Amino acid sequence: MKYYSTNGKAPLATLQKAVVKGLAEDKGLYMPQSIKPLPQSFFGNIQNLSFQEIAYQVADCFFGEDVEADALRKIVYDTLSFDVPAVRVKDNIFSLELFHGPTLAFKDVGARFMARLLQYFIRDLKDSKDLKEVNVLVATSGDTGSAVANGFLGVEGIHVYVLYPKGKVSPIQECQFTTLGQNITAIEVDGVFDDCQALVKSAFIDKDLNEHMLLTSANSINVARFLPQSFYYFYAYAQLKKLGLADNVVACVPSGNFGNICSALFGKRMGLPINRFIAANNENDVFYYYLQTGSYYPKRSVQTIANAMDVGDPSNFARIFDLYHHSHAAICADISGATYTDEEIAQTMRGCLAETGYQLDPHGACGYRALQEGLREGEVGFFLETAHPAKFKQVVDDICGTDIEIPARLQAFMKGEKQSVSMSKDFASFKAYLMSL
Ligand SMILES: *Cc1c(COP(=O)(O)O)cnc(C)c1O
Repeated sequence: MKYYSTNGKAPLATLQKAVVKGLAEDKGLYMPQSIKPLPQSFFGNIQNLSFQEIAYQVADCFFGEDVEADALRKIVYDTLSFDVPAVRVKDNIFSLELFHGPTLAFKDVGARFMARLLQYFIRDLKDSKDLKEVNVLVATSGDTGSAVANGFLGVEGIHVYVLYPKGKVSPIQECQFTTLGQNITAIEVDGVFDDCQALVKSAFIDKDLNEHMLLTSANSINVARFLPQSFYYFYAYAQLKKLGLADNVVACVPSGNFGNICSALFGKRMGLPINRFIAANNENDVFYYYLQTGSYYPKRSVQTIANAMDVGDPSNFARIFDLYHHSHAAICADISGATYTDEEIAQTMRGCLAETGYQLDPHGACGYRALQEGLREGEVGFFLETAHPAKFKQVVDDICGTDIEIPARLQAFMKGEKQSVSMSKDFASFKAYLMSL
């Protein structure tokens, strides 16, 4: 399978190049040249398959031409070492719990898959060329850093640099990537998430840097991170089908950089019978505004209590735009939007807990509320519970008056000592730092 750039000015790339380079030469995002549909027989029997088997069949459509079957199966099975249950919260609303992985957020899926695929390709490169170390640069608004850092921790031949906005990630999130050591370096940037993302993007197109070191990205712009996220939409459908509730399904995705919902839209192209999608936003409402008006105006992100969604210029908008051939009408036919203030998010968390006993995190709360407000007669909806509420313990406890328990695997991170490099948001100093390595 070949990959083209959303900007249309870069040569077609192999999967290996798309994964190792991350971003195309023209700054566009890679897209697979074709999206293979899965056969009807697969959907007919999907409720009887395991998560791992479903995921392997989906992965085969994207990666089967480029990765040997045995290796791909192993990558998929190793990646999905945890369950993603669809839990009924009330009536026709389900929570797809994506927080049972090592860092308690959905990004574990893409990050673990990418680490394994990159390792596979590096082995390949080592045979053919002189390989320097591969350097993974990743900007994080909170959860990406921990998922990527943990996904790559101790992987030979790869060094990870995590850029995060100073003072804008929760202490629990921060310790998940600043205490690891080994092949992980945390870089604390004096700015917001968009500044971190801009530094990473500039590094990829800087000629000197690219001559100096082999750079790749593990943000959701990387095809190896975002495509595997489609796995759990198929599995959610399978679980609803098993309950006889899959005739009219709505998926609601709390969205920031729009990688997660974008992978769901790829799933639909492969035949996944999800009727429609809702993109739930916090106050960072650039996409919501686009749906209403047809105009896309990136903005500076504002800080909210759902901080992993504080994105003012979502990277994957370019992919959604491309997937729908730039048609606003076609996008609106599949996706609707919602946007919530911090106060609305807080009300939703308290209301849901009182009414159902289910503890939402601030991101999942946006998804739950959008379903509650937007689900129509006869529809069954699932929202993505994108992170465990304990990752945002202070905020959650303050809002709900609770003292939620911190899972043991999260506590383990909090015992480590913080190590990080401080950086200003201007590219010259970041470049100088990388050049000195
Ligand atoms: C990253 C993240 C999101 C946003 O996902 P995108 O793919 O960037 O849209 C939502 N919730 C949590 C908890 C996250 O970590």
